[in-house]
Amino acid sequence: MDKKDIASLNLQELEIELKAMGLPKFRAKQIYDWIHKKGVTEFSEMTNISKDLICKLNDNFVIFSCTIEKKLVSRYDNTVKYLYSLPDGEYLECVVMDYKYGHTICVSTQVGCKMGCAFCASGIGGFKRHLRPSEILSQIYTAQRDLGLRISRIVLMGMGEPLDNFDNVMKFLALVSDENGLNIGMRHISLSTSGIVPRIYDLLERKPQLTLSVSLHAPNDEIRSRIMPVNKSWNVDQLLDACKVYADTTSRRISFEYAMMKGVNDTPECARELSKRLKGILCHVNLIPANEVKEKAHTRSDDASIEQFKSILEKNGLNVTIRRTLGSDINASCGQLRREKILENQN
Ligand code: SAH
Ligand code: SF4
Repeated sequence: MDKKDIASLNLQELEIELKAMGLPKFRAKQIYDWIHKKGVTEFSEMTNISKDLICKLNDNFVIFSCTIEKKLVSRYDNTVKYLYSLPDGEYLECVVMDYKYGHTICVSTQVGCKMGCAFCASGIGGFKRHLRPSEILSQIYTAQRDLGLRISRIVLMGMGEPLDNFDNVMKFLALVSDENGLNIGMRHISLSTSGIVPRIYDLLERKPQLTLSVSLHAPNDEIRSRIMPVNKSWNVDQLLDACKVYADTTSRRISFEYAMMKGVNDTPECARELSKRLKGILCHVNLIPANEVKEKAHTRSDDASIEQFKSILEKNGLNVTIRRTLGSDINASCGQLRREKILENQN
């Protein structure tokens, strides 16, 4: 029998599991606390649990944890990038950024990605598998343990499409915001999606207080379908309708991500068209100088085009920022370390 993934269980589920083993309710709380508050990775580290019980737990459960394969620290801004390995031989990346208001972690939700965006390194090699709640949590616990600090904000912007792994991601969100665990408030969590429209409505039904980031990257279907195949299933109108409903219902601003690629989506016409499309939506636009990826054709827009694009959006009343590049010396954009490792293993 496969051992159960204990760190993916919520407190109630753990109580039920332990009850079936004849154990009292308070044990569940103790064990949950060790895993989710103290971040232990072995039952033997649980000092208020008897040896007998530790043996029983080891027979029935496993505490999932990632292994650090590589760690890069930026000389410029303390950004830390991890390459983690998983027991089945897969690799994940995660980045910890040191902001004025605390440490933010960028986590992955899948190994690989199905969405096939033309500019993204995460999808090269296709989709491998979904990550379980414990595998998303462990990216945080492992970094906290290694760095000896507490993470205060989370962005689901690493490898994978979070809304394509809906149930596991919803469970992760519940676990990470649980007051018996890390207790990171939903207002300190952002989820980024390429635009799986039905899942945006599903998310809305859960009434989460998280920030929704939408990877828009183009002002119209012609450009967006060329660089993001998901647009052929749900077009810009359908996506923006869902965004408007989401923002109106939650009163939370949508953050539109727009990666600036030279000659692709960075012209003044694109800026004017984007301004028109976003009119009336409670939102913020985040312009990202695109990261160049060896295997991909696009190049980054120059600073002058980005500034001009920003000023057109601002003249049209939009709230705009240009994302500053963190960890530029350690290649902090997602997917690249994993690619290097996979290629290294093939040689
Ligand atoms: N799958 C989700 C979340 C992970 S990608 C999504 O697509 O939103 C996180 C962000 O990085 C997205 O906004 C994505 O469009 C962006 N991104 C991917 N590759 C990029 C690149 N080469 N340059 C700049 N941004 C990129
Ligand atoms: Fe997947 Fe997001 Fe990359 Fe698109 S940008 S391939 S959705 S991870």
